[in-house]
Amino acid sequence: MLLDNKKVAIIGGGPGGLTLARLLQEKGVDVKVYERDENREVRQQGSTLDLHDDTGLKAINKAGLIDEFKKYYRPGADTMKITDRDMNIVYDDHKEKPEEDFGNEHFRPEIDRGPLRDLLIASLKEENVIWGSKFTEMKPCGEGWEILFENGTTAYADFVIASDGANSRVRKYITEIQPIFSGVTAIEINVYNAEKNAPKLWKLVNGGKIFALEQGKTVLFSAKGDGTLTVLLGLKTEQNWLINSGIDFKNKKSVLEWFKKDFAEWSRDWQELFKGDEISIIPRTMYHFPLNQSWKPLPNLTMIGDAAHRMPPYAGEGANQALADALELYEVLTSNLFQKMEDAIGFFEKKMCARTSEITEITLQQTEAMHDENNLQLLLNFFNEVV
Ligand SMILES: Cc1cc2nc3c(=O)[nH]c(=O)nc-3n(C[C@H](O)[C@H](O)[C@H](O)COP(=O)(O)OP(=O)(O)OC[C@H]3O[C@@H](n4cnc5c(N)ncnc54)[C@H](O)[C@@H]3O)c2cc1C
Repeated sequence: MLLDNKKVAIIGGGPGGLTLARLLQEKGVDVKVYERDENREVRQQGSTLDLHDDTGLKAINKAGLIDEFKKYYRPGADTMKITDRDMNIVYDDHKEKPEEDFGNEHFRPEIDRGPLRDLLIASLKEENVIWGSKFTEMKPCGEGWEILFENGTTAYADFVIASDGANSRVRKYITEIQPIFSGVTAIEINVYNAEKNAPKLWKLVNGGKIFALEQGKTVLFSAKGDGTLTVLLGLKTEQNWLINSGIDFKNKKSVLEWFKKDFAEWSRDWQELFKGDEISIIPRTMYHFPLNQSWKPLPNLTMIGDAAHRMPPYAGEGANQALADALELYEVLTSNLFQKMEDAIGFFEKKMCARTSEITEITLQQTEAMHDENNLQLLLNFFNEVV
């Protein structure tokens, strides 16, 4: 096997990196994940993730973790309502959704990020995850790399895999290709203990998801198992809107003032989002990589997940693609089909870029449609055609 007697370093313990580590560990590979979080208790931001049969679930299955997944996924969390800006429900699949289960290609079970991360970490040997290791730089060293971390520690690896997410620091050692602004900026809001802090919205979401949209704006809600309501406000902006808007995103009142003005025509009930103090606000300018990106494969370095193909979240594909990358890279590296690392890496990267180029294109179309002036009608047309 290409990785015999090699030290492998995975930078970043998100869904992609941890899944890859699990797959490689089970093949006896000497693999370590270097994660910047101080420990496994760090709270996971972000909405729940729905895993797809041919990508995310396939990788979890191959990693031997489907039974663990079944313990922690959230039945019913995939149900969805669509509302207009006045909170009128115009579509509700809570009643119409057919019974689906594992093995059905349309079944997309939801799991919260925290439990997914926990189950992946629990599947790794303790010594294979090095916490508190924020990558800063790396230098060529023999056939491999000397990796430097912010806390002053270093590590040697023959082969490095970047899975450090959308703002990857490792990516630049592979390519200088820069991300492109998608035209949309989003503001992620997590309301903790939402039953108390946003009771009306918590009741409306009813353990599932709400897509509220009109006039080019989106307000997407999902309920998490720990009682958090995760909300993504989306709108078309110029690229530097976060800086130029004058909003202080660290100050709830400043964001609420903006919301009242920009969403003035929306029901005041949405403002309940800002009522409590148990809240976090994370602004996110949405970028993607070019659809035709490619680079020269290296024998000792590659990347997976958002580091390789960040994209807006409006098609719910990012984590699924990261898991598909993990599975495909594992298969290529352990298949005995290739004699040389650069051939294996080149094969993997070409396939990953082709797959994620298609997905990025679909995602951009959906991002555009969701933020079109006529977005509510477009989404209703979409669901009525699918059903
Ligand atoms: C609001 C929102 C909603 C989304 N909804 C969905 C959805 O419904 N379905 C879906 O499939 N996808 C969704 N996505 C996308 C999904 O979250 C990502 O595509 C996915 O998490 C990518 O996985 P990853 O492992 O590549 O990177 P990440 O999940 O970003 O993980 C990267 C890891 O690297 C660590 N790290 C970062 N920098 C360093 C460093 N310098 N040194 C060491 N460690 C580092 C981070 O702490 C993190 O643990 C959403 C994204 C957002 C923002």
